[in-house]
Amino acid sequence: MMEESGNCPLCSSRSDHFYHNSKQNRNFYLCPDCSLIFQGRASLPDELEEKARYELHHNSGGDQGYISWLERFISEGMDPWYSGGAVLDFGSGPRPVLTDMLKRKGLDVCSYDKYFSPTWPEGRTFSCILLSEVLEHLVDPLSEFRKIASLSETGAKIILQSAFLQNYDKKCFGSWWYKEDVTHIRFYSASSLQMLGLKSGWNLEYQDGRSLAVFRKP
Ligand SMILES: [Zn+2]
Repeated sequence: MMEESGNCPLCSSRSDHFYHNSKQNRNFYLCPDCSLIFQGRASLPDELEEKARYELHHNSGGDQGYISWLERFISEGMDPWYSGGAVLDFGSGPRPVLTDMLKRKGLDVCSYDKYFSPTWPEGRTFSCILLSEVLEHLVDPLSEFRKIASLSETGAKIILQSAFLQNYDKKCFGSWWYKEDVTHIRFYSASSLQMLGLKSGWNLEYQDGRSLAVFRKP
């Protein structure tokens, strides 16, 4: 039933089954080398499911809780690392609330989203790339990080927020709300963030062990 084994999307290591979500019939694997927990290919959501789920996401411009949360990402996540230049809001969602907030601050911001703002900003370069609640959705994070690198200046920073794994206890993982969203398919901690950077050409500069990580293009 759940014996198939998966290859880690970061380091390709053969990974053992870690957890079966019986309600959703989803299998998760744990990489023995970088500690990424990832959903097996067989049960990944298709694009229709994915898009429908994103349309339900809590990012309407009028939701004060969401705005306060993004304000905190800007002041505590972005501001300490941002040193000017063009910004890319990568995975901006159905309504680009973060883009709009930064534009109101006078920043030069461009948004990109696979479904909702799909024009790739070819020919532009950025010094700061923001991924707010995006990393956990990426099927192939290495190719996305390499694509981002192709638009990034030397010294550019990827600043991202997500929810990182706090421990590897199966019971804790089983009761973690974060994995219940069927579009959340990869779960990171310090060692998998490190591997992500190593394999995609970015240096992991900082991660707070909870939700914030910063990568720098060497
Ligand atoms: Zn791995």
